[in-house]
Amino acid sequence: MSHQISIEAADAAFACAPGQSLLDAALRAGIDLPYSCRKGVCGSCVGQIAAGEVTGINGAAIRNDSCTPEQVLYCMCTPASDLVLRPMSWTRIDPSARKTFTARVHSNELAAPDVSLLKLRLPTGQRAKFKAGQYLQILLDDGSTRSYSFANPPQESDGAILHIRHVAGGRFSAQVAQLAPGDTLQIELPFGHVALREDETRPIVFVAGGTGFAPVKSILDDLLKRRVQRPVTLIWGARDQAGLYLRPAVARWQKQWPDFRFVPALSEGPADNVGDTFAGRVDQALRACCPDLSGHEVYCCGSPPMVAAVRAAAAESGLASADFHADVFVPGPSAPPA
Ligand SMILES: Cc1cc2nc3c(=O)[nH]c(=O)nc-3n(C[C@H](O)[C@H](O)[C@H](O)COP(=O)(O)OP(=O)(O)OC[C@H]3O[C@@H](n4cnc5c(N)ncnc54)[C@H](O)[C@@H]3O)c2cc1C
Repeated sequence: MSHQISIEAADAAFACAPGQSLLDAALRAGIDLPYSCRKGVCGSCVGQIAAGEVTGINGAAIRNDSCTPEQVLYCMCTPASDLVLRPMSWTRIDPSARKTFTARVHSNELAAPDVSLLKLRLPTGQRAKFKAGQYLQILLDDGSTRSYSFANPPQESDGAILHIRHVAGGRFSAQVAQLAPGDTLQIELPFGHVALREDETRPIVFVAGGTGFAPVKSILDDLLKRRVQRPVTLIWGARDQAGLYLRPAVARWQKQWPDFRFVPALSEGPADNVGDTFAGRVDQALRACCPDLSGHEVYCCGSPPMVAAVRAAAAESGLASADFHADVFVPGPSAPPA
């Protein structure tokens, strides 16, 4: 039997089936709660239960380190009674905006020895409706899905450009380099809560690890196209120079953006800090280059340990926790679409 879920002090309610997550039920009903990985790792979907009882889906933990004792992860909870939620924030969305397409591979190039730059085209006349920073899911033939961030801005909507790191033994990514023009993939889009607010003017620091550069590229190209000019620092980290696989895009922003600072960080890079390159991890680069983050926003994207380290460094430098936004590339299959 489904339970009735309502949002505290708001005219918003939806049904949640047994075993369904609160997050998925809300999204399906057109109520957008903050979220990213939907796998109980990133902590973007934390919120409170104002009334009622929840349990973990299939015995999963309903809290992780990002939760205060009052908070739970909405992506891991299913209701055990009718509930009232007290989310961090919420908005209404059109639940029919999410669509499935058969996309065609337009081109597939190696941007680095272990990174494919995959360009997909939608069927003629179709448009991808997404916002900068969102991601799509590729449906594999075993029914599981893999998530990849859009690297193109929403204004370029006839397809998707994806930056895919080859994971050794990975079911999809280890094979991606073999995809050829004309091959087809089933994709569903859009996913992901957009963290950056359009009316913000404060300086922003982007911290990207490896292919975490993809959503940053989408956001920066979108800001440029919309002529939004906030002061921007980009810290992009990789093991070596080859991992910073799209330097021409950065060079373009450096030319076009009046207040743009780029800090490449190489964890196995030069022994000393040479020129503009920081020798070390991105969290160390953030500490060194941005010692005072009060009055800033930080948007961080990459692997779970990298995001955790950057979150801690940002807090030490005075960033308010509400101003830290993360897209965590949690590995492995995603939950089926909401
Ligand atoms: C919201 C979101 C956005 C994402 N966007 C991107 C993106 O733009 N570009 C991108 O390259 N990836 C991205 N990812 C990761 C991506 O969805 C896949 O998880 C990744 O490509 C591995 O898929 P696979 O099928 O090759 O590996 P799987 O077959 O799923 O995994 C094989 C094995 O490798 C491990 N593994 C998988 N990935 C990693 C990893 N990164 N590091 C260490 N071990 C790993 C798994 O735990 C498993 O043991 C994103 C993930 C999320 C949740």
